[in-house]
Amino acid sequence: MARISERNEGYKVRISARGTSRLQSGHVWVYRSDVTRSDGVARGSVVTVLDQRGKPLGTALYSSSSQIALRMISRSPVADFPALLRQRVGEALAYRELTVRDSNAYRLIFSEADFLPGLIVDRYNDILSIQVLTQAMASDTIRENLLSVLKEKLYPASIVERVDSKIRQLEQLPPRDSGLLVGEKTSTVFTMDGVQFHFDAREGQKTGAFLDQRENYAAAAEYAHGEALDVFCYQGGFALHLAPRCSTITGVDSSRPALEVAEQNTALNRQLLSGKEIEWIEGNAFDLLKDYAASGREYDTVVLDPPAFAKTKRDLDAALRGYKELNLRALKMVRQGGILVTCSCSYHVSQADFLEMLAAAARDAHRVIRVAELRGQAKDHPILLNVPETAYLKCVIAYVSN
Ligand code: SAH
Repeated sequence: MARISERNEGYKVRISARGTSRLQSGHVWVYRSDVTRSDGVARGSVVTVLDQRGKPLGTALYSSSSQIALRMISRSPVADFPALLRQRVGEALAYRELTVRDSNAYRLIFSEADFLPGLIVDRYNDILSIQVLTQAMASDTIRENLLSVLKEKLYPASIVERVDSKIRQLEQLPPRDSGLLVGEKTSTVFTMDGVQFHFDAREGQKTGAFLDQRENYAAAAEYAHGEALDVFCYQGGFALHLAPRCSTITGVDSSRPALEVAEQNTALNRQLLSGKEIEWIEGNAFDLLKDYAASGREYDTVVLDPPAFAKTKRDLDAALRGYKELNLRALKMVRQGGILVTCSCSYHVSQADFLEMLAAAARDAHRVIRVAELRGQAKDHPILLNVPETAYLKCVIAYVSN
């Protein structure tokens, strides 16, 4: 049996047959209910995972409080986790260099999908934003190592931390404020596909982008035409990409701060828009679509990108009803031969569920949907096939006719 080094302090966690078979199927999580022995194991430590007979299955990060007790980092012994972290950050960066085009904003580290469970790092031009989701990734040693490797490889002007206080509570970590970890710079401008966006990490104006939609913006722009409506527009990701192809464009969101940034983003892109104005409307998308449909408004292009309606599996039915209502209303407003871009970022709604919902909405709206593209999240959010939770975004681009 391979010995583990001092660096992982020799902690061992034994798991049940069910936990073992989950790992053998290629997943990387072990739930607390499948941990059979973890006596004396320190919170947030690097541990050797043993099956029910004591045979080592690999190395994991341990959380003493999360329902996900173990997240595997390797199927082999890990002597030096900080060294492994460095190596994986390097590999994650190399993968982005290969797959990200025309953008200086992308997700550099996507947790499990980059074999660094519990860690998210986003790049917005010269500012890096990190998010720590587990006890292990929150340790001072790991944080220091991460910052030093990020500085060494990317030379960022600054590194900010985005704290999710609910996650820190779940992980029983002491409260912590979001803020600067390295450097002084808190805002910048980043570019995707030639479109510019503001990023501001200052408290109260946190404005990260939905980087997972980056490739869908460019794809949707290929089809967009005529009068366009971007529903759930946030800071204008779709609207700004579509605007050069459309005669008029309206963005709708319920968040005033998001629309204020959308307005600033419009100003940043004056040249690209060659004087075209974008109308930003603050309102509830459900009410607004209802009013617009009732008053007979029509569009050539409609984008629907709502927040996740199904946060848990239990919400699935209600979520599907919500998606159907939105899509039904949108379908009634799309002109003959027009385009619907419709998205769902709920992991619990599968692609099959989403398509079935869309088919039912089309039937009820008496419209025909011809799918041009079935898309997902951008390549900087890679999908680990044996970890289904890493695949969550659906984006359908379709032609609508009678
Ligand atoms: N399309 C955007 C991301 C949308 S995220 C992009 O690519 O950047 C979902 C957005 O829906 C958020 O901006 C949120 O403010 C908005 N939202 C949530 N509930 C809403 C509602 N009932 N009506 C309108 N907007 C809503």
